[in-house]
Amino acid sequence: MENAANRPILILHNGVIVTMDQSSRVFRDGAVVVAGDRIEAVGPSAQILRDFSHLATVDSVVDLRGRILLPGFVNTHVHTSQQLGRGIADDVDLMTWLHKRIWPYESHMTEEDSYLSTLLCGIELIRSGVTCFAEAGGQHVSGMARAVEELGLRACLAKSSMDTGDGLPANWSACSTDNCIQSQRELYTKHHNTAEGRIRIWFGLRQIMNASDQLLLKTRDAAEELKTGIHMHVAEIPYENQLVMSTRKVEHGTVTYLEKIGLLRSNLLAAHSVWLSDAEIGFFAKADVKVSHCPASAMRMLGFAPIKEMHEAGVCVSLGTDGAPSNNRMSIVDEMYLASLINKGREAYTSGTTNPTVVPAVTVLKMATIDGAKSVLWDNEIGSIEVAKKADLIVVNPFSWTMVPLHDCISSLVYCMRTENIDSVMCNGQWIMKDHKILRINEEEIVSLAIQAADALLKRAGISLPERMNYL
Ligand SMILES: [Zn+2]
Repeated sequence: MENAANRPILILHNGVIVTMDQSSRVFRDGAVVVAGDRIEAVGPSAQILRDFSHLATVDSVVDLRGRILLPGFVNTHVHTSQQLGRGIADDVDLMTWLHKRIWPYESHMTEEDSYLSTLLCGIELIRSGVTCFAEAGGQHVSGMARAVEELGLRACLAKSSMDTGDGLPANWSACSTDNCIQSQRELYTKHHNTAEGRIRIWFGLRQIMNASDQLLLKTRDAAEELKTGIHMHVAEIPYENQLVMSTRKVEHGTVTYLEKIGLLRSNLLAAHSVWLSDAEIGFFAKADVKVSHCPASAMRMLGFAPIKEMHEAGVCVSLGTDGAPSNNRMSIVDEMYLASLINKGREAYTSGTTNPTVVPAVTVLKMATIDGAKSVLWDNEIGSIEVAKKADLIVVNPFSWTMVPLHDCISSLVYCMRTENIDSVMCNGQWIMKDHKILRINEEEIVSLAIQAADALLKRAGISLPERMNYL
């Protein structure tokens, strides 16, 4: 490692350091040294100050005053392009949601819309402690990349690819299989490893009902060749499995078919994965497929995902918010709380007896940190506070009515913490939010521009929402 003395040094001390490393170490009065974009040291405050304070300038020694320092959260399934569509599809059935609201909305987006939508979404991600996210797949990856660069976040961006399926908007159904692959290869060449290495480009498959066999296979091979990931919605609704069984002649649904064609690999991030048989959970475990569990979105649109069973089988499960029209809240803090409650509730419902021990707080915190990092294939550099990893850190202030008294730090982070408890966020060694202020973009201006862009987009897409109230 490069000599720390040659890089700017920052010492954060007198905090509770929740490392999320393999031994789950927590330092009650701990410190972290950041040198450039990486973590140089972690340990008890007294020892760190003794060893490193001679290297730091006075203003680069930060007293955390008992606050909690965590690795940044990883949101493994978010549609940044859908942020301008928040509220356009509340309380509607799935087909109305997709055909009458989301597809018209997304197919009328410009690159500038996508850029603004990602900036708006990024504000909410940062405020909820997210330092890295996996884009579920939109149309204008270059717009997303520009926003991610400015926000200072880390991301795995993907283009949503579709080459078949009923009811697609005209400009999408024109996309041939080869065009789908070629355009993603070009995005990879242009954006992969840009923004100081914060941006990676993945391949995206919207879902099996919009993918020909050729698209599935060519995506599998291109991702393998470029050593990158594939992000895909998998086994979302029973109808999807039924369609796969009847058209692709397999015993169960999507997962069985993906196993048959060799698409289940360790670089597949399978979003939702709600309707899986026991055998299919076994396929995931064997192939080291990663799952993004989106509790709020699943409750609203899809159903109960078998998270307890996946954990028991050894599947790596992380957390996602999904997009704004399926959840409305893009806070991974809320998803942590929901992940525990929903899976305890599901256990009572399916087993006929209560069992509050399932999906405990420590498991949920792993899902939001180190298992999120594994899911986006970046765990060698992020997901825990360890020497030589990237400095992606968040400072949580627990001294407010939402979290006191603090008897058990880990429990409090999952069951009590609100988004507002997150004070500061660092990504790649740079503060991107400090004392609740987003630093790299003008938040007020983005909010104002986003309101205008959303109005114009809905008009262009011909989406008119029914009035639910008789406004005076
Ligand atoms: Zn999604």
